[in-house]
Amino acid sequence: MKSFINVKPESHFPIQNLPYGVFRPRHGGKPRIGVAIGEYVLDLSVLEKAGLLKETGVEDRGIFDQPSLNPFMALGKNVWKKVREILQHLLNEDEPALRDDPWLRRAALRKQSDVELLLPAQIGDYTDFYASKEHATNVGTMFRGKENALMPNWTHLPVGYHGRSSSVVISGTDVHRPKGQMKPLDKDQPIFGPSQQLDIELEMGWFIGLGNERGQPIPIKNAEEHIFGLVLVNDWSARDIQAWEYQPLGPFLSKSFATSISPWVVPLEALEPFRVEGPKQEPPPLPYLQKDEASSFDIELEVYLKGKDMGHSQKIISTNFSYLYWSMAQQISHHTVAGCNLRPGDLQASGTISGPQKEKRGSLLELTWRGAEPMNLYNGEQRVWLEDGDEITMTGWCQGDGYKIGFGEVTGRILPALE
Ligand code: CA
Repeated sequence: MKSFINVKPESHFPIQNLPYGVFRPRHGGKPRIGVAIGEYVLDLSVLEKAGLLKETGVEDRGIFDQPSLNPFMALGKNVWKKVREILQHLLNEDEPALRDDPWLRRAALRKQSDVELLLPAQIGDYTDFYASKEHATNVGTMFRGKENALMPNWTHLPVGYHGRSSSVVISGTDVHRPKGQMKPLDKDQPIFGPSQQLDIELEMGWFIGLGNERGQPIPIKNAEEHIFGLVLVNDWSARDIQAWEYQPLGPFLSKSFATSISPWVVPLEALEPFRVEGPKQEPPPLPYLQKDEASSFDIELEVYLKGKDMGHSQKIISTNFSYLYWSMAQQISHHTVAGCNLRPGDLQASGTISGPQKEKRGSLLELTWRGAEPMNLYNGEQRVWLEDGDEITMTGWCQGDGYKIGFGEVTGRILPALE
């Protein structure tokens, strides 16, 4: 499959991808919905008005002339599939409808550099899991010792907590160093001030499309039908605030000051060619968490750091989504099994994605082993935790034969704590 729009092999956005986003033209105009194709964004509200999205079930509803993807997400898998099919047809090199209509091309195709990307959805609820065995083992070893690294429940259920949706921000948003209560080991009493142990967490998130009724769990065999698409997530974390506040109910203010996501939502369908088996689960999970088909995906993930005195960024993490122990399907089924209802636009995140080797650890906490092994940067600086001015960029992609299904990037810079 090839588009009449020139897309370089290293681009994240070939015709095989077509991720959805919400954008606003820089020269003015309302937010609306588009898909990324090469260096362009295709404005779906224009196609909809031109009558090119007939037969998708969205005709005349203004579903793409919206500041969020929620109404489209709520239409369900069959409509998403049909829209995607029509968009791939319209962008195909052999299809003249858009290719040979100069007016329509001018109206519907904009350079990505000419638009501002916004949060893709109005996020109702945000849930964060803890689904990487390597991450949970590393953190558990540091905090409780090797013998007690994994809590007894960990291999039986995907551990998670309810996060905060109000502070989910789009890539490019600066983040002020949070202040909070901490209790350093050498102090008798807690202190208050800017976090001295600011960290990142490399995660992937997925948006829920169609939800479920309260009291009606989503069976695991249907769980993936509820996934609209995936984004990159940086779950900024203040480890010193976390260490003091987290017992017995889990992290609170150490996580809720900001969570950054990438702007383009990659449809689950685009990831199908990259479906792989996840790690073998031992002991076997309870029946409600069992699924026969492979339910992980081969997604390369990288993290770059650029300090304020660095001329270019440095790669600090290189890992893969497929290391995750608990699959997205298992996390969705588990989330709803007691009766919790999910809604269109809800965001779920995987938890930090670490792998077996050191460079595959998805947080500074693990990379530097809580400060025991500082990280060396190319300009002679060292890092244990984030410093003011540090910019973190996460990226991810699936490598196809001559093309990439990419997620773009999620980036964010640390600013000094507010006075
Ligand atoms: Ca997290």
